[in-house]
Amino acid sequence: MKYISTRDKNNICTASQAILRGIAADGGLYVPESLPTLTAETIGELAGMDYRTRAEAVLKMFLDDYTEMELAFYVTKAYVSFDHPAVAPTVKIDDSTYMLELWHGPTCAFKDMALQLLPYLMTAALRKNGETRQVCILTATSGDTGKAALEAFADVAGTKIMVFYPENGVSKVQKLQMTTQSGENVCVCAVKGNFDDAQNGVKAIFGDRQLGAELSDRGWILSSANSINWGRLLPQIVYYISAYCDLINCGAVKNGEQIQFVVPTGNFGDILAGFYAGSMGLPVKRLVCASNANNVLTDFINTGVYDRNRPFHTTISPSMDILISSNLERLLFHMSDDAETAGYMAELSKTGRYTVSDRVLKGIQSRFVSGCLDDEGTMAVIREYFKNGVLVDTHTAVGCGVLNDYRKRTGNGGVSVIVSTANPYKFCGSVLTALGADHDGDGVELFGQLEKVTGTKAPAPLGTLGEKTVRFTRSVEKEKMPETVREFLK
Ligand SMILES: *Cc1c(COP(=O)(O)O)cnc(C)c1O
Repeated sequence: MKYISTRDKNNICTASQAILRGIAADGGLYVPESLPTLTAETIGELAGMDYRTRAEAVLKMFLDDYTEMELAFYVTKAYVSFDHPAVAPTVKIDDSTYMLELWHGPTCAFKDMALQLLPYLMTAALRKNGETRQVCILTATSGDTGKAALEAFADVAGTKIMVFYPENGVSKVQKLQMTTQSGENVCVCAVKGNFDDAQNGVKAIFGDRQLGAELSDRGWILSSANSINWGRLLPQIVYYISAYCDLINCGAVKNGEQIQFVVPTGNFGDILAGFYAGSMGLPVKRLVCASNANNVLTDFINTGVYDRNRPFHTTISPSMDILISSNLERLLFHMSDDAETAGYMAELSKTGRYTVSDRVLKGIQSRFVSGCLDDEGTMAVIREYFKNGVLVDTHTAVGCGVLNDYRKRTGNGGVSVIVSTANPYKFCGSVLTALGADHDGDGVELFGQLEKVTGTKAPAPLGTLGEKTVRFTRSVEKEKMPETVREFLK
């Protein structure tokens, strides 16, 4: 299967090259030239397998320059460190509501689902392409990607990893997770700005040919662990399919019956994976895109106008504080073509806004609906769910609240799966506030209190965080990001 750039369909490469490069030279994102089909029969077969085997089967459909043996080995290694035997369990809330728990990995957010696998795909891609240079992973993070990428690439031979996070844009626990990261090949740096500044800075470094040539002379290539990389999206397609299989197995749906997924969204990577699963043939009636107060996507899906010229809000769901959702570019491509997509992206970088054609808007609205929820609404949902015995984090709560509103407007709509993206302990301060518990600070010192108030247990990888030493304290202006990378690769 070939991969092409969203901005030029004649810019073609193999799967391993798409993963190695992260982003196309024309600034576009790689997408598969065509999608494999998922028949009801295949879904039935997948339902009989465990998560790893499902993952292997789905990856095989997309990565034809990797062998079956390689893929089998990678998925086995990638998901050993998960603390749940089902890896990504689908948990029943009520007869028509399920929660897909994606935070059983080592960093307690859904980013582990893909990032635990990415180093294997990436180092194999180096080999397959006769690449003798080493790869440096550059990542901008709104909190969770950074830690998941660090954990995945720490001390992986032939790689280095550098993570940029917005100085005041992540939770205390998220920050501590990153700044205490071990490993000889890792570096973490704060950026004075918000997530969009950090992400734009990283994209600019990828586009800087002079810097690229200089680093190449010194034996380095750059790649990305953000969801602009196809290697990030593909493993996420697996869990949509896997959740559907789980619903068949527990009798919640019959094979072929349509369901909806509700996805707390920021960079549009997670929900786009759901779109791909639906496009392959998974019976997905609708994808519900849930945003926080940074509701640029809600407006876009409702009106067809994407406009990032609006205030940036720092919210209690920081991993969704994003005004430029990179992966929307892939959706635009699938709804139009390369030339039209390149046009929208040029508009976006020039004016910060674009309006899609009627045809594209109709296409998007046939698959997506959208809603948003502010911090106050999010807190109310955390309270309401907890009353019913379910503790959710601030991001998942946005999804729950948007689903509530949607059902009020349109009726129940059949079985819905809420994609649960993080463990609540990552955001313990906000969760305690939501539950009405008085507290000081918002870091690891609150774990004991949250355990007492909720009768739950802090996950093991977070529990030991307070004993670790902070290794990285640097903070730079966004203009200094290229220089920081140069120094790291000296
Ligand atoms: C990254 C993240 C999101 C948003 O996912 P996107 O793929 O960027 O849309 C939502 N919730 C949590 C907890 C996250 O870490």
